[in-house]
Amino acid sequence: MASALTDKLSRLVKEIRGQARITETNVSDMLREVRMALLEADVALPVVRDFIARVKEKALGQEVLGSLTPGQALVAIVNKELAATMGDGVADINLAAQPPAVILMAGLQGAGKTTTTAKLAKHLMEKRGKKVLTVSGDVYRPAAIEQLKTVTKQAGAEWFASTPDQKPVDIALAALDYAKKHFFDVLLVDTAGRLAIDEALMREIRELHAGIHPVETLFVVDAMQGQDAINTAKAFKEALPLTGIILTKLDGDSRGGAALSVRQITGAPIKFAGTSEKLDGLEVFDANRHAGRVLG
Ligand code: GDP
Repeated sequence: MASALTDKLSRLVKEIRGQARITETNVSDMLREVRMALLEADVALPVVRDFIARVKEKALGQEVLGSLTPGQALVAIVNKELAATMGDGVADINLAAQPPAVILMAGLQGAGKTTTTAKLAKHLMEKRGKKVLTVSGDVYRPAAIEQLKTVTKQAGAEWFASTPDQKPVDIALAALDYAKKHFFDVLLVDTAGRLAIDEALMREIRELHAGIHPVETLFVVDAMQGQDAINTAKAFKEALPLTGIILTKLDGDSRGGAALSVRQITGAPIKFAGTSEKLDGLEVFDANRHAGRVLG
């Protein structure tokens, strides 16, 4: 995970550790390197600027204590701030609703929404003992409805049928009604994506959100999208009250910057990370652990 950023920062950490004293000048030099590493990792520029400013303020205000050398102290500050930027620790999925807890999955086509819906169904069944129903509101691509049916079955959850002549909100309400009558704990609503942001898509998903009042509105985003992930995140954040993020394809992300940017730009916690195409390739995202990996 995040290998290029890891490599770069690991080298840097060695250099920083070699410094004897923290001064205004060498803090600036070191932070210039950190800045380059983050930009190379495709972290968005405003996010990098904020990050560097916070680290600098903390580093210069810090009394160096105990056995830490100033270099180690700076590394610790960078590490702590990386974790804080990504949300500090683990953000649990919220199921605190009158059952069924409705979870809306939002994101662009290809982000991994359908796969992630099935992964989440499996996770909630196996790790949380929940009874899970899935439904697809993608009325534009019948193949997407079929895909959800297939992966839901593989996950061992139940799938609610829908057809392309229905309105997404009507589909979701019918599934909700079925879920209530059959005592499901969770209803996962997969939605239509587009190849790029468009107004009609945003209007439709807002209507869907207003109709079903989800307890979680999860933004599914491809970590390999790099800078584009930022624009997508902004658009979804403006359209919907996001409660969490699922970062997919972290296994293929060599730059490692999306986690920082997307968290900072949406303000929503990263709750899960996709780590393979397989249905068990979903991890609870731990910001502290991810920060540790990033720094190497
Ligand atoms: P959707 O259009 O957003 O519903 O995306 P899909 O669920 O169809 O996923 C698009 C592609 O990404 C598929 O080939 C998935 O197998 C793949 N995919 C999804 N999540 C991951 C992941 O975490 N890691 C990897 N390597 N591939 C993933």
